[in-house]
Amino acid sequence: MRIEEDIKLDFKDVLIRPKRSTLRSRKDVDITRDYVFKWSKRSYHGVPIIAANMDGVGTFSMAKAFLEHDAKMSVALHKHYPLEDLIAFFNENDAQSAWYSIGMVTADQEKLDAFMQKCPNKVEKICLDVANGYSEHFVDFVKGTREKYPDLTIMAGNVVTGEMVEELILAGVDVVKVGIGPGSVCTTRKMTGVGYPQLSAIIECADAAHGLGGLICADGGCTVPGDLAKAFGAGADFIMLGGMLAGHDQSEMNIIEADGEKFVTFYGMSSDTAMTKHKGGVAEYRASEGKTVKIPYRGDISGTLQDVLGGVRSACTYVGAKRLKELSKRTTFIRVTQQINNVFGAS
Ligand code: 5GP
Repeated sequence: MRIEEDIKLDFKDVLIRPKRSTLRSRKDVDITRDYVFKWSKRSYHGVPIIAANMDGVGTFSMAKAFLEHDAKMSVALHKHYPLEDLIAFFNENDAQSAWYSIGMVTADQEKLDAFMQKCPNKVEKICLDVANGYSEHFVDFVKGTREKYPDLTIMAGNVVTGEMVEELILAGVDVVKVGIGPGSVCTTRKMTGVGYPQLSAIIECADAAHGLGGLICADGGCTVPGDLAKAFGAGADFIMLGGMLAGHDQSEMNIIEADGEKFVTFYGMSSDTAMTKHKGGVAEYRASEGKTVKIPYRGDISGTLQDVLGGVRSACTYVGAKRLKELSKRTTFIRVTQQINNVFGAS
C-alpha cells in the first residue's frame, strides 16, 4: 500500500485570477478551436464542447438544436439508436455535429461495421466508451479499431492518469476522455472508492497528451459555466457535459408533471434505470454505478447554451484571452480551500 501526499484539486478548490486585459467585450472573444487530430489527420473547427453520450443528452434533437443555433458544439450520440435511424441522421446532417458512440460489446462493433458499409464516409468521429479505460482488453480494442478505421477520429476513455493517457494515444486514440467518478449521476466513487479529483486529472492528463501530440476531453463534473472555464484553463482540449444539458426539450424524454411542477428523469448509463431500459435488467456481476434523479424541466436548450457559451467567453475576457486557445496560458488558479492534512492541528 502507498499513500500519495500531493495535493489534488477539484473545480471547487480553485478560482481563476483576473488579469489585465485589452478586450472590450465578451463578443470580441473567439471560443472556437482548430485541431488536426494526431491519427486521423482530420481537421476540426468548432466550439470544443460535447454533449455526453447519455440518454437525455446525446440525442439527435440535441445535435439538430446545436446546428440550428449555430453553436458549433457537437454531440456524442448515445449508442442505443437503431442502425436505420443513425443512417438517416448522418445522411441528413453535417458529420461535424456528431460522434458515433460504441462500447466494447460485440453488438456495438457489428452495428458500427454495418453502418460503415451502408453509409460510408458519413461519420468522421467515433467515441469508444467504457467505464474503466485501464484494462488491457480495452487497449487491444482501441488498437483493433484504429487498424480497421485508420481515418476515423477516435475519442476513447475513461482514464485519469498520465501514463494511461500515453498508452491510449500510442494505441491510436486521438482524444483521450478523462474522468473517473466526477459525473453528476455517477456513483463509482461511492460504490468502489476509486476516483481522482477532476481538475488535477485534467492538468496531469493534458500535459501527458500534449507531449505526444494528442488531445484530451474533460468528461464529467461540470455543474456551472465557471467549471468549463476552469477545465479549459487547466488544459482541456474538449469538455463533455451530461447533467448541464439534461432536462431540456431536446432530451427526447417524457416530461413528468407533479404538484404543478415539471420534471424530467435523468440517469447514469450504468444505473438500474438504463440497464433495465436497454439490457432488460442489471447483470448480477455488475454493481450499478449510476443513479437516477428527477430534475426540473428546463424548456428549450437555447437559454442554457447562451449561459454556457457566455460564461466561457466572459472568463476569457477576465484574463485577457482573445481566443479560447490562449485561456490555459493565461490562467492562474488560486486555491480557495484548505486541504486538511493534520487531523490534530487543522482548524
Ligand atoms: P456530468 O456532466 O453529468 O457531470 O457527467 C457526464 C459523464 O458522466 C458522462 O459523460 C460519463 O462519462 C459519466 N457517466 C454517465 N453515466 C454514468 C454512470 O452510470 N456511471 C458512471 N460511473 N459514470 C457515468
